[in-house]
Amino acid sequence: MKTDKNIVDFIKSKFPEKEVVNLHEPLFIGNEFAYVKDAIDSTFVSSVGKYVDKFEQMICDYTGSKFAIATVNGTAALHISLLIAGVKSGNLVITQPLSFVATCNAISYIGAQPVFVDVDMETMGMCPNSLELFLKLNTITKGNKCYYKETNQLISACVPMHSFGHPSKIEEINEICIRYHITLIEDAAESLGSKINNIHTGTIGKIGAYSFNGNKTITCGGGGMIVTNDDTLGKLAKHLTTTAKINHKWEYIHDQVGYNYRLPNLNAAFACAQMEMLEKYIENKRELAQSYIDFFNDDNDLLFKKEPPNTRSNYWLNTVLFPSSIQRDDFLKYASDNKINARPAWKLMTNLIMYKNCPKIETPNSINIEERAVNLPSSVRL
Ligand SMILES: *Cc1c(COP(=O)(O)O)cnc(C)c1O
Repeated sequence: MKTDKNIVDFIKSKFPEKEVVNLHEPLFIGNEFAYVKDAIDSTFVSSVGKYVDKFEQMICDYTGSKFAIATVNGTAALHISLLIAGVKSGNLVITQPLSFVATCNAISYIGAQPVFVDVDMETMGMCPNSLELFLKLNTITKGNKCYYKETNQLISACVPMHSFGHPSKIEEINEICIRYHITLIEDAAESLGSKINNIHTGTIGKIGAYSFNGNKTITCGGGGMIVTNDDTLGKLAKHLTTTAKINHKWEYIHDQVGYNYRLPNLNAAFACAQMEMLEKYIENKRELAQSYIDFFNDDNDLLFKKEPPNTRSNYWLNTVLFPSSIQRDDFLKYASDNKINARPAWKLMTNLIMYKNCPKIETPNSINIEERAVNLPSSVRL
């Protein structure tokens, strides 16, 4: 097995100009300044302006989605995605324990409750078998709706996440959700540009959500995007994120409780410049991933997570599984002492105080990954 020093030396060789190697740094070498300046010069810096429309169009063109609705951040995109899917207070929403807390928080904003099924070892995303098993054992279908037997709560949506950028088995998950009358919302916050059978993650389910937070593949400071091919849902998402204001030249008429979730034009300008770099950045990140693959290839104890078959991953965060949590923690300490910011995965949602009493099925794979995973530095390199 490679020593901690071997790994640290390898990472340093990949980022020779960095004194501290961070997990994921943003890179601004395109039109960011020009477009932001243009937005400032136009005085349209806030909730109106051409860059918001332009950014949305760029996402439609890039992902092949019919509608794209920009939001202030990815969490807001998830919140609105759940609302337009018809999730109501008191409903249950299926998700995975291995995720960033935003997925569960968005579910909670509605007054709904997360339900946890396991992830699979191959993709680290939601496991279709675990989902199916949970539904088979715990639910009944009445009038084209799926209910949790124990409490009679409606299960209205399922939100799998494409962990660290690797596409999850979303086509199988989609098929199960259709069979059980559950709306599929993809948390594609980490996987912009990742594809499965050449289809973009985020566009397979009914609704998808992306994030443009500072640590993602591309960023605009903060931002999010909802994508859908459904006309009604697309229009509703736009309406709800823009205070539910009826279009009128001068009057302020709002026809429901709306949200001020619109992305400022300033951030959208920034985002347009980053979008122009996205494919180049993904190619660059995939080269880095390939060098990690080659490095770990002859090691039988350290398992580097490659993109699953039939997918193209954006390799947002490179991930390696250590044989044990002790070896993992030793490495994290050694790396930190040597100015390498490697990170463990998130604490599982099933262990957080807010979510530990939510319904769940056994989640051995999530526990396994949480104990062994390390995210390795993954920034785009010049
Ligand atoms: C980043 C992220 C989000 C959304 O994050 P914001 O910071 O609100 O843009 C949601 N889910 C996952 C899994 C994420 O990684």
